[in-house]
Amino acid sequence: MRTKIVAGNWKMNLDYQEGLALFSEITNMIKDEITGKQEAVICSPFIHLSSLVQLAKGYNKVSLGAQNAHQAEAGAYTGEISAKMIKSVGAQYVILGHSERRQYFAETNALLAKKTDIVLSHGLKPIFCIGETLAEREANQHFAIIKSQLEEGVFHLGVEDFSKLVLAYEPVWAIGTGVTASSAQAQEIHAFIRAEISAKYGKEVAEGITILYGGSCNPKNAPELFAQPDIDGGLIGGASLKSRDFVDILSVFN
Ligand code: PEP
Repeated sequence: MRTKIVAGNWKMNLDYQEGLALFSEITNMIKDEITGKQEAVICSPFIHLSSLVQLAKGYNKVSLGAQNAHQAEAGAYTGEISAKMIKSVGAQYVILGHSERRQYFAETNALLAKKTDIVLSHGLKPIFCIGETLAEREANQHFAIIKSQLEEGVFHLGVEDFSKLVLAYEPVWAIGTGVTASSAQAQEIHAFIRAEISAKYGKEVAEGITILYGGSCNPKNAPELFAQPDIDGGLIGGASLKSRDFVDILSVFN
């Protein structure tokens, strides 16, 4: 049975007080309403992380994650945050390769491979995002794009490290647009991802990897998406900023 995860990506939203207030709402609802084995991961801005880790103590269904990490161990990189720092505050996950980082910060698969290595070396779990743009889908390149993101971003890993990853399929055309991939479209890609993993690392590894769907996921469409055999949860942007919506999405796995 794969781990079911619903991860919230707060992006660059919420000041410190707002973040703490939303997190308290979410943890209280989870305590009262979540009955299954699913895990919630809140990926907050760096500023909030240390305090949220403290607030999360005692809630075993809630983990914290960062939204990025620098690829170097330490050094003269003004304004950057290292994997070691993220680990030191008690976070467990790091989103890597989000399409906004690929698009606005020119993060390539080669750079993301380095980030993946350093994040894993500090005992953190990457939530590694892959997905095609609308133009790529329309040109029928989506399978080739996903394959190259896997091959260049994470397929250099040994089997032990690879097994620690969480993957997130996020079609770029569905992120923040209100357009969701249909459950059939999402399942088709998730099955493809699992088949690629199986070809590289074997069936057992492929069957064990949690693969999230992201892109305008909300409480209405989550039940159908999460019912697909290869979809193990969601990476949630907009709806993770509303406690009711986020916990409703999480409760799909109750
Ligand atoms: C995201 O940014 O990872 C995301 C899925 O955003 P949204 O849910 O808002 O589409």
